[in-house]
Amino acid sequence: MGGEQDKGSLTRRAVLKAAAAVAAAGGAAAAGYAAWRNSSYLFLMRNAPTEAAHPSLAWKGATVRSYRPLGTTGIRMSDISFGGGAIDNSDVVARAVERGINYFDTSPDYSKTGSEQTIGKALKGVRDKVFIASKFCTGDGHLPKDTPVAEIMRAVEGSLTRLQTDYLDVCLIHEVNSIDRLMAPTFHEAFDRLKEQGKVRFLGVSSHTPNLEAVMRHAVASGRFQVLLVAHNFGNWPDLTNIFHDAKQRGVGVIAMKTLKGAQATVLKDFADQSQAFSQAAFKWVLRNPDVSGLVVSIRDFNQIDEYLYASGQPLEASDAALLERYDQLIAKDYCRPGCGACLDRCPSDVPVDDILRYAMYYENYGREDEARMRYAALPPERAATHCVNCPAPCQAACPFELPIRQKLLQAHRTLQA
Ligand code: SF4
Ligand code: SF4
Repeated sequence: MGGEQDKGSLTRRAVLKAAAAVAAAGGAAAAGYAAWRNSSYLFLMRNAPTEAAHPSLAWKGATVRSYRPLGTTGIRMSDISFGGGAIDNSDVVARAVERGINYFDTSPDYSKTGSEQTIGKALKGVRDKVFIASKFCTGDGHLPKDTPVAEIMRAVEGSLTRLQTDYLDVCLIHEVNSIDRLMAPTFHEAFDRLKEQGKVRFLGVSSHTPNLEAVMRHAVASGRFQVLLVAHNFGNWPDLTNIFHDAKQRGVGVIAMKTLKGAQATVLKDFADQSQAFSQAAFKWVLRNPDVSGLVVSIRDFNQIDEYLYASGQPLEASDAALLERYDQLIAKDYCRPGCGACLDRCPSDVPVDDILRYAMYYENYGREDEARMRYAALPPERAATHCVNCPAPCQAACPFELPIRQKLLQAHRTLQA
């Protein structure tokens, strides 16, 4: 691991000092964080049904055609890399390696450690040829920021056991939605100790929450992180382009995720007769930016490897941009934007508009019907969409995207009520 960056060796006190310095520099921005709702705008999480309806024969056997430097880590990652969120078949992982994918992103909370076990089984014979990233996490979920250092270290050691390896190339603080969590001394101290022991190489941060731009900007400025794993897709979070550029200047690698914009099955069927896949256009859009090192996309079957890798190393064409534009037009007045929340304080009944529309999306587009209904049922009854029935809908005037909120919520209620 010669030549690695050593930015990660700050002491606990230095971490706090660095956090304070950055916080002071970005005080105005930090004040804005409080205004954000941190709860759960995770529209873009997990795995949308994103395969092309009619795979082209031309995609068969596609391989990685481009590798890019991951900041100054010394890693050259496949531009289209493996997201392990849904993987349960080690043969699929092995096929990905054969096709040239060399970067694998997993986490203990993917399939309650099943993802790590599957990936570990497939990669143990090729460990020196691949890079593995996992998260500070357990099979039961994310570790809170005040978790004792020893417990965080044990969690990472659990990942190493399941992955059948002695070290992680990247260990990420997972789903960071606040600067407090980003700079939590516990995570940083655990990382430093694990690094000293040779069990982790680089520190990363992942985020796909409304605060993601603020979190990523702070992460770059802090000098603590070597890798950003960040939700990035056409039309969202415009400031990311600038942040990615700064990251590159500072030697921080940028990996995009959620690149498919939670592609909606109901809309994708309108693309079924296209000769090009929506996924390929979306990937080319992300990778057209040279400040992006690569992307990870959830892969769970062999066909996805063919389809996705066909876009590797390919430029964005006018036809790709047109396809993405068409998709955006189709979803324009149907898509509740993650991180928006502009309508929330207009509702006299405090109905969580964004959350309910997200649950409806889980049901309608992600095939997660039970979970969607369970989440809706867990809302306090006084915040349910039943309030919308006789409401003049003052929320709608606040929506910059002109969503017919009342109609959508009533539809969601019909769908989600048990
Ligand atoms: S329609 Fe009325 S009750 Fe429903 S979310 Fe809008 S303001 Fe709230
Ligand atoms: S204002 Fe529109 S896009 Fe924003 S949270 Fe409300 S419904 Fe969603």
